[in-house]
Amino acid sequence: MTDHPRIPLAGVIGHPIAHSRSPALHGYWLKRYGIRGHYIPLDIATSDLADMLRALPKMGFVGVNITIPHKEAVLHIADVITDRAALIGAANTLIFRKDGRIQADNTDGSGFIANLRQNAPHWRPHDGPAVVFGAGGAARAVVAALIEVGVPEIRISNRTRPRAEGLRSDFGAKLVVSEWTQGANMLDGATTVINTTSLGMVGKSDLRVPLDGLRSDAVVTDLVYTPLMTQFLIEAQAMGCTVVDGLGMLLHQAAPGFERWFGHRPDVDDATRQAVLSA
Ligand code: NAP
Repeated sequence: MTDHPRIPLAGVIGHPIAHSRSPALHGYWLKRYGIRGHYIPLDIATSDLADMLRALPKMGFVGVNITIPHKEAVLHIADVITDRAALIGAANTLIFRKDGRIQADNTDGSGFIANLRQNAPHWRPHDGPAVVFGAGGAARAVVAALIEVGVPEIRISNRTRPRAEGLRSDFGAKLVVSEWTQGANMLDGATTVINTTSLGMVGKSDLRVPLDGLRSDAVVTDLVYTPLMTQFLIEAQAMGCTVVDGLGMLLHQAAPGFERWFGHRPDVDDATRQAVLSA
């Protein structure tokens, strides 16, 4: 009998998953580079997660992305965890290795930095303090990445203060925690400002911080990408700041997984962006 090579499968696991843009993104790259493979949305409940992750490699899956609510839980299932996923305490990319082991990685932080470098090329992380609004899962990836690229100080504020204090105890003395209601005070002299909360998303209220103290040469970014221009970014842009939307982070965080699973480093360019926006 002829041994046919298997067509590689990958996907994204979440619960729910219908909203995910990842299938459109990976599907676009597969077509663009003429790669035989498929990328599939997989709606899997928490109670089934471990069993499904063990079954997927047997079905021809080479890996999966992981999204809400499973990003932390997969660390208890994976056999190998990269240092950065362990530090962040969550994974967004799993690799089903040939030796049968499941490797967990987190590419959110590198995607965040790649987005800033691409869309604010003059950005210099060392130039001054960074301000982070929010202390959820995405904030952990952002804080880890900011420390890695040499930001001198990170001022952080979260509605639920103990969560921000938790980041300080995990990531160290570069973090300075402020009260949520005093968020505007953190902006004085800051050169990088990031919204990592879900405020500003379609259907949620806006992140309301008076931006009077913001330097006009600051780089301001938002992890929210629906809408692309949040009210927070619109106001920062009106102050003269360089603003970077969150879609580029989504595109860049996906690239390492695609390369690992399908063997081709994909371009993150305007055509990629348009393909995802029009899907
Ligand atoms: P998460 O762990 O659930 O954290 C949510 C954050 O938003 C927390 O800091 C939370 O504060 C804050 N928040 C929610 N509602 C709030 C409200 N009404 N007032 C004040 N603060 C509020 O979620 P996550 O995974 O960190 O994701 C956060 C956002 O980043 C989401 O919009 C997500 O889509 C986006 N994201 C984008 C990318 C990308 O590639 N662009 C990647 C990852 C995440 P509390 O702690 O007080 O609840």
